[in-house]
Amino acid sequence: MFGDCNGESVSIPSCWKSQKSSEPAETQTDELVGVEKNEQTSESKYIEVQTDRIQEPTLSSNYDENALSTFLNRVGQKVIDEIDKGNRSKAFLSYQLPDEDSSSEVKIVLSLTRPNTAEKNEMKVNSLAWSCTGGVLALALGYPHHDDWCSHTGLIHFYNIAYSHNSTAEPSRVIETTSCVTCIAFHPYEPSFVACGLVRGNIAIWNLQNDGSETLISCNGHNDPVTDLSWVQLVGVARPNLVSSGQDGRLLIWNVSLLSGTCTIQENFGFNDLETDVEAGISCFAFCNRRPEQFVVALEGGALKFCNSSSSKLTTRISNTVAVRNPVVGDLVKHNGVVSCVAFSPYHEELLLTVGSDNRILVHSVVKMDVMREIQCDIDLTAAAWCLSQANLFIVCNNEAGIDVYDHKNGRKLAEFSTDVPAICGTSLNLKSPKYLAISDADGKAYILQMPQYFQTGQT
Ligand SMILES: [Zn+2]
Repeated sequence: MFGDCNGESVSIPSCWKSQKSSEPAETQTDELVGVEKNEQTSESKYIEVQTDRIQEPTLSSNYDENALSTFLNRVGQKVIDEIDKGNRSKAFLSYQLPDEDSSSEVKIVLSLTRPNTAEKNEMKVNSLAWSCTGGVLALALGYPHHDDWCSHTGLIHFYNIAYSHNSTAEPSRVIETTSCVTCIAFHPYEPSFVACGLVRGNIAIWNLQNDGSETLISCNGHNDPVTDLSWVQLVGVARPNLVSSGQDGRLLIWNVSLLSGTCTIQENFGFNDLETDVEAGISCFAFCNRRPEQFVVALEGGALKFCNSSSSKLTTRISNTVAVRNPVVGDLVKHNGVVSCVAFSPYHEELLLTVGSDNRILVHSVVKMDVMREIQCDIDLTAAAWCLSQANLFIVCNNEAGIDVYDHKNGRKLAEFSTDVPAICGTSLNLKSPKYLAISDADGKAYILQMPQYFQTGQT
């Protein structure tokens, strides 16, 4: 089955050197076909605007040249005389355009001096007030402490204010009062009438056009020292009423007739718990500018009573032959100490600024009956006032001679200034020229400061 066998050789021709032939072959692809399509765009139309045809004014030449000439000859010289008079006028000599550089700081522009009488030097400035024209400043002077019945004579110093840097001013008039003066208020539009409250509880009104210290009106209403005084224009009343508060816890609204020289009590408000005989005195009060039936009274101890005179309730008490009414409609958040300032915002009728000896600044809303802004300071605050040139700002003075400017919207301190006076005790803004601030210090001296007119709030 198996055996040797020689097979025939088989040759296989080598082909590695053989020449390869190749041919390009075309690739067949589909023909690209492009199609153009229009994009859809919004349709627009042109509409013509109809305007009135402009009619060129045509100057009428229908006038009498002779009459015009006569008229010009008649009035021409008078007009020239008036222009010359205005050119010679000194009315604007002291007028200065606001200077950006000089308005960024607080500086004393006037130091108010007092006649040097040794026995009167211990008297302090209890109150400052500007006249309605802004041209006169009055200082109410009295002794700061009374252990017993006040047997002093008080003083009111009046200064005619002419501003010049670093100058001093002597009082242009001095009125002596029957006891120490605690508060003072000029009439809101009769610049010669001024009212003041005294330690003995009486109120006196002077007409400064009359010489001497004799009062025009003197009336008794409070059993204790008068603490605050203000003229208030009530709704439906022809002339402003005088409002006074006292340590006897009463707020009296006086009907004052300057012509006849009479002063009678119109309203007698009490604010305390009438179940008890102890009545807390009133530190200060403020009436809402636009709604004068609304007012806030700060009681000793720091309580803040929001009141409405039109909804007052009759009490069983009678004082000064007038029935005592209780106008309290609610309690605002109180201070833990003596309230030194209560002020309604001149721009936002519902906002009330209060400052107390607890070193707190509170901005209340009398609509929400709540505190909108609370700022706690670490130094004693002595006075405060809303900024008259900017709606949301207020200034606060402290007993380290500082004046701070705050924005109630965010509580930020926008500026702080230091003055060269000892502790600031009282302030009064000049309503006619809000950049001027009258202050009194702990030594009984008074100054007029020039404040910057505007502050950067950082808000656009
Ligand atoms: Zn006294």
